[in-house]
This record gives sequence, structure tokens and C-alpha cells, in this order.
Amino acid sequence: MKNDKFQLAIVGLGGMGNWHRELIERIDCLEVCGSYDIREERQEFARQHGITPYASFEELLADPKVDIVLCATPNDVHKEVVTRSLRAGKNVVCEKPVTLGSKDLQEMIDASKETGKLFVVHQNRRWDEDYLTIKKIYEEHLLGNVYRIESRVHGSRGIPGDWRGEKEHGGGMVLDWGVHILDQICMMIPEKIKTVYATLTHVTNEIVDDGFTTVLTFESGLEVLLEVGTNNFINLPRWYMLGQDGTAVIEDWELHGKIVRAKNWDEKDVVPVKTAAGLTKTMAPRREDTIVTEDLPIVHSDIRDYYRNVCACIQGKEEIKVKLPEVMRVMRLMEAIFESAEKGQIVSFE
Ligand code: NAD
Repeated sequence: MKNDKFQLAIVGLGGMGNWHRELIERIDCLEVCGSYDIREERQEFARQHGITPYASFEELLADPKVDIVLCATPNDVHKEVVTRSLRAGKNVVCEKPVTLGSKDLQEMIDASKETGKLFVVHQNRRWDEDYLTIKKIYEEHLLGNVYRIESRVHGSRGIPGDWRGEKEHGGGMVLDWGVHILDQICMMIPEKIKTVYATLTHVTNEIVDDGFTTVLTFESGLEVLLEVGTNNFINLPRWYMLGQDGTAVIEDWELHGKIVRAKNWDEKDVVPVKTAAGLTKTMAPRREDTIVTEDLPIVHSDIRDYYRNVCACIQGKEEIKVKLPEVMRVMRLMEAIFESAEKGQIVSFE
């Protein structure tokens, strides 16, 4: 610690490592004291931004002033960086996905238990405002009994042309984006997951999945569809939630959306819809005077709370917010997704 600030060293100063660097500039309890990247251009980038890069990972670990190591390397490198940092007596913040499988994760958890050092994963999308808003709608029963939730993330650029397209580096969209949206759902619904069914897509990349759809069935019968797509030129809503009393939609990250409820359930004078080849009353749109449309109860957040919690936890003042058993459960869910997709079958989970 220096000037009451924990000293954090970044391993892997790429896109996300630099995102952390910029965030930490706005956090009182922390300071970036150095970095290490295997690419010389990123070592130079560090110098240009006033950070002294370490000549090697070993030099970084040997520096007694480093309190926290942030691991922001490609996914396959996380396990080594995390376990070596813990064993060198450092606290560790690790980017998601924590690693490539539950066996590796268990080794990382064991290292943290042996050393007594903090090991926490950056599940930052727990602080996304679209997520916190849909979670509030769910937790406050604003739609009555919820029986279906759909959570989607759609893009149209394929997988980035870097290590994310390569299996050995832990590429693919289940690990990249699936880990976020699975984590969100697990934190929102405090129930056991009975079954998992999943299919993977390989539209633009044959080696790793470039998207997936999975259906999780919870103990109460609640069904959740989660989907990541990277070849979607028209996006479906980010969130769609169906309850017995109404429906909520969040269209996008700008939080466009609404809640619609029936004002008068027994609408007598439905005007049938005539299509080119038929007639329907069941599917006729509701008249405005029979429904109530409400704004979303938007929840705001501050991502700096993630690191504030890390600092408070190291000082013994708070419990850590992102807990390792939660991270392990999501890792096992991702494994169940791969298993279901490979077998073409529903798999039991808990
Ligand atoms: P990136 O390729 O931009 O950066 C990774 C950096 O790590 C590169 O500069 C690379 O040279 C360096 N590196 C590779 N091996 C190394 C090693 N052994 N030692 C030191 N440095 C090494 O990738 P990125 O987009 O920044 O992703 C990094 C991590 O952050 C991944 O785990 C990714 O999943 C995660 N990420 C998280 C979020 C989020 O919102 N939480 C967003 C993007 C990426």
C-alpha cells in the first residue's frame, strides 16, 4: 500500500487491461503500479501512459509493493497467472471467463485457499443497468409470476479476428459472452437448475462456436432462453420477460423498453384480425384502452463499486461480492452447454 492506496499490477495490457487502467484512475482505494505484457508494443504503450512496465512476469511477482495482480491475458493463460500470483503472496483479480474448465478452476480455488489470498473474478456485467433493471422487475414481482425469460446478445461482426477464434486460447462465444449472461441469470434466480439444452452455431467460424442458444429449466418450471449471436444483422431485444400479469421488454443497452399489463383481462369486444388467408381473435393486438403501459423502473449503477468491494474485502471490512462458488457454478453450466450441444440432448444439471 502506498498513500492509502492498494498497488495493482496489470498482467496483459491489451484492450481490457487498458480498460481497467482507465477505470482505476477514477477509484480512490487503488493505483496501477506497473504492468507486464509479452508484446513489446504493449510494454511501450505502458510507458507512454506513465506506467513502468516490468521486464518479466517474475520481476512483477517479486516486487513487494504489488498488493494485487490483475490478470487480463487471453483465457488460456489465466490459470498460470492466477496460481503463480497467489503463491507469490498476491491478491488476484482475474478476467472472465476465469479459465477453460471446472478442473482448472478447482486448482485455482485450492491455491487461493492454501495461500489465504483473495482471488476474485471480474464478473462486471452484474453492474450492467439493463440487467439490474430486469432483475428489479423480477424481484419486485412487477409482472406477477414470471414463467419465461429471454436474454440475448446479438452482433453482426463474427468473432473478433484474434485469439477469440482459436480453441487453444479459450475462444468461442460460450466462454466469451455466455459467461456473462449465465452469471447474470444465476444471480437473478435463486433456484436450482434442473436441465440444460443447447445448440452451438458455426456460421463464421468452424473451430469455435460463434454463438449459441440454450434453454435452462429451473426447479419451479421457470424457463430461461439465453442466446449469443455474432451474425445477426437485426437484433432481437436484449431482455424479454413474461409474467402472468404482464410482459417486459428491454430493447438494448440504452434501456429502451417498457412494461405492458392488461387493464381489463376480460376484453369482450375484440376486433378480429383478418389476414390474407384467415381470421384470428386470439392473436389480435390489444386496444390501447385495455392495457397499461409503464416506463421501465431503471436502476443505475457505478462499476467502481466492483473495485471498492475488492479493497474493502482485502481490508476485512466487506464480504466479496463475486464469490468463487458462483463462478464455479457458471463454469459447470458452460460445460453442460457443451455437453448438451455435443450429444444433441437435454442434460440434467442440479
Ligand atoms: P487482448 O488480446 O486485447 O489483450 C490480451 C493481452 O494479453 C495482449 O496484449 C497480449 O499480448 C497479452 N498477453 C498474452 N499472453 C500473455 C502472457 N503470458 N503474459 C502477459 N501478457 C500476455 O484481449 P482482451 O480483449 O483485452 O481480453 C483479455 C481478457 O479480458 C480475456 O480474458 C477476456 O475474456 C477478458 N475481457 C473481459 C471483458 C469484460 O467485460 N469483463 C471484456 C473484454 C475482455
